[in-house]
Amino acid sequence: MLCKNIGRDTQGNLTFAGQSVAALAEQYGTPLYLMDEDRIRENCRLYLSVMREAFGEGSYPLYASKAACFKRIYTVLREEGMAADFVSLGEIHTAVAAGFPMEKTCFHGNNKTDEEIAYAMDHGVGCFIVDSAWELDAVEKAAEKRGAVQDILLRLTPGIDPHTYEAIATGKVDSKFGTAIETGQAMPLVQAALGRKHVRLLGYHCHVGSQVFDEDGTVYHDAADIMLRFAKDVQRELGFTASVLNLGGGYGVRYVGSDPPVDIAANLRKLASHIRAVCQSLDFPMPQVRLEPGRSIVADAGMTLYRVGTVKQITGYKNYVSIDGGMTDNPRYALYGAKYTVLHAARTDADFRCDLVGRCCESGDVIQPDILLPKPQRGDVIAVCTTGAYNYSMASNYNRVPRPPIVMLHGGTSEIAVRRETPDDLIALDQ
Ligand SMILES: *Cc1c(COP(=O)(O)O)cnc(C)c1O
Repeated sequence: MLCKNIGRDTQGNLTFAGQSVAALAEQYGTPLYLMDEDRIRENCRLYLSVMREAFGEGSYPLYASKAACFKRIYTVLREEGMAADFVSLGEIHTAVAAGFPMEKTCFHGNNKTDEEIAYAMDHGVGCFIVDSAWELDAVEKAAEKRGAVQDILLRLTPGIDPHTYEAIATGKVDSKFGTAIETGQAMPLVQAALGRKHVRLLGYHCHVGSQVFDEDGTVYHDAADIMLRFAKDVQRELGFTASVLNLGGGYGVRYVGSDPPVDIAANLRKLASHIRAVCQSLDFPMPQVRLEPGRSIVADAGMTLYRVGTVKQITGYKNYVSIDGGMTDNPRYALYGAKYTVLHAARTDADFRCDLVGRCCESGDVIQPDILLPKPQRGDVIAVCTTGAYNYSMASNYNRVPRPPIVMLHGGTSEIAVRRETPDDLIALDQ
């Protein structure tokens, strides 16, 4: 199995986090997002402990909220001692509503509005990741107005292609995110930041992309090299020594059996010793390192359950299995051809080649094409694995389809964390 939380009982019935998925589908209805809370905690603990040990005191992971954002997750993160980062007022508001501590949080984005900057400052977000010179001015102004000094990192683009989907590669020179080192624009931005009275520059941030497998470790090592060399250049030219290096998120997870297994602990340890060696050779003090895992914290903690509605066999062409959800709860195949493992909840035979499709009015509403399932009956439960990241957070109400609930699984119990949307929720804002 892809992850140890997926299993079959002695009768071959599918289990998730040790619980029968058929029973959960019966109790909560479908479509249904399941979240294995124990797995989220395990993933947090791995990053927290390995980073502390490998990078030293003051280095820590921040959960990238955009992967999955709802109140309950911040309770789990708080209990685990995990920090978080945000990309919008809405994400900050969700964490605030859950009583999440703000000191170690970061605020990202290539176009934070003045309203968002004000909200983040007023709610004590610890650090702003400043994307550009324009934004530096906006943050300086907002901090000045409050008589405050805002901690910042500058987001830089190291000019690296992480070999992932184009839409989620973010560290290339021509990215809409960050300020490029290669073009010579990063140095004057540092100089500008150092000249401001109401921001305190701590160091630099970069994020090369998402779903990065980096089997030989080169992507993050190369990013660290470029960032540290830049930090050294700044020290020489401007006399400023960065104390924080944030290398963003992006470690990949296995969606299908052919994806390589990822040993995050080993990767982190290798990255730490690489950074140490580079610092030594540059004669630069080892910075505090931050990473921002999103997907690798929540993806394999998620599973989506659906029921089959119709099976269509187009003689001589192909077969479609239609389920009661679709691109509204999981747009990732439609967006960039993302792969998923699909399982029948009660049967393990698999000789019916089909496309698993949703119920939306788009031919692109595909969850996964060309898979093998047992030929299902109407009402059968189908599970799509590894849906904990970028599914709920990317869900929409297209076709006025209500979004599914999120049920948290914890130590053999289940609890609704986000309730199912109702038809009345869908018209709640209509005047
Ligand atoms: C998306 C993003 C992350 C998280 O990436 P994952 O692939 O989910 O780990 C972290 N940092 C920044 C700046 C991001 O944009």
